[in-house]
Amino acid sequence: MKKHLIIIGAGLCGLSSAYLLQDHFDITIVEARNRIGGRIFGIEGHDLGPSWIWPHHHHILALIQSLQIQIFPQYENGKSLYEHTKGIEHFIQPRDERYRIRGGVSKLITSLYNRVDATVILNQPVETITFQDKRLRVHTCSHVIDADYIISTLPPRLMLQDITFSPALAQNIQTHLSSLSTWMGHSAKCVITFEKNFWRESGLSGFAFSHLGPLIEMHDASTDQSSALFGFCHATNTPSFAGDLQKQLIRLLGKDIQYPIDIHTIDWKKQRFTSTTKDHIATSAHSDYGYDFSIYDGRMLFSGSESSHIAGGYMEGALYAALSAAKKVQNSTI
Ligand SMILES: Cc1cc2nc3c(=O)[nH]c(=O)nc-3n(C[C@H](O)[C@H](O)[C@H](O)COP(=O)(O)OP(=O)(O)OC[C@H]3O[C@@H](n4cnc5c(N)ncnc54)[C@H](O)[C@@H]3O)c2cc1C
Repeated sequence: MKKHLIIIGAGLCGLSSAYLLQDHFDITIVEARNRIGGRIFGIEGHDLGPSWIWPHHHHILALIQSLQIQIFPQYENGKSLYEHTKGIEHFIQPRDERYRIRGGVSKLITSLYNRVDATVILNQPVETITFQDKRLRVHTCSHVIDADYIISTLPPRLMLQDITFSPALAQNIQTHLSSLSTWMGHSAKCVITFEKNFWRESGLSGFAFSHLGPLIEMHDASTDQSSALFGFCHATNTPSFAGDLQKQLIRLLGKDIQYPIDIHTIDWKKQRFTSTTKDHIATSAHSDYGYDFSIYDGRMLFSGSESSHIAGGYMEGALYAALSAAKKVQNSTI
């Protein structure tokens, strides 16, 4: 009989771990949200979470290829804009080769999910993990599930905040995990759709930096079906957000801009199952991600993108973490 593995979290790392281990274990994925994907989330093919894959992110590119998903380069032709208190400057941005997924990054999640042989339980935040008399157990508000192994894929601070461990985690583990933020957990993202990507006709790439906001950074986000821009901002829920955004678009793209068809927003700071209050402040540099903790006789592993020493925080990191946890669980004997 196969041993029972519980994976906590149905984001990219959780689903990839299940995909790698499904021939060897009977797998249950326990997910807090009412959907799969975690930080990977989109609306109508537009990405409200991650968008880009870089050429050196070999694992994610290989996964995309194996799932027969298509990619295309980020649109960067034309002039970019820098908005500051004294006006707007045009410049040519040096090329940063990066790719987007045709149909949106959520397509990666649904394709992966369709190939995963596991029981997926939604709407069940894990609250407690216990290890007593060699019995490893996961407790949610309505389920108690026994496991031979557990892989948690939660961002580190979230796991410390939301899951009670009995016996408690060692102090060095707690200190290390609490020092690592959820990558992009401070950000808010906004996708604005239009009839046409009119900025391209004016020789603009759609890329802009701004000190005035509300968007602090903006990019072309057009898809096969729809013309769009996306931007990062500090907050999307202020009463004046839509009006301020329209004013900024006029400043950047000219008074003849088309009126947006739709504005989709998400504030990841407010996402209960992504960020803690400690993550609300943007980090000035990419954190020194990576850890290799396991507890309870090596039967409970801490994974997720932030656990990866390589590309930690990125989708590539989530795949490295999945590979590393899969190797450890397969090599373990109980
Ligand atoms: C706005 C934004 C832009 C980004 N841009 C890029 C980019 O361009 N390129 C790139 O490579 N990466 C980017 N990233 C990072 C990328 O999204 C992550 O690296 C990746 O999605 C992490 O996957 P994960 O499975 O490790 O974690 P997550 O996706 O966070 O998955 C963790 C899962 O655990 C679940 N969970 C939480 N608490 C509990 C609980 N108590 N019980 C059960 N389940 C729980 C969550 O709901 C979630 O499904 C971006 C992220 C954001 C937010």
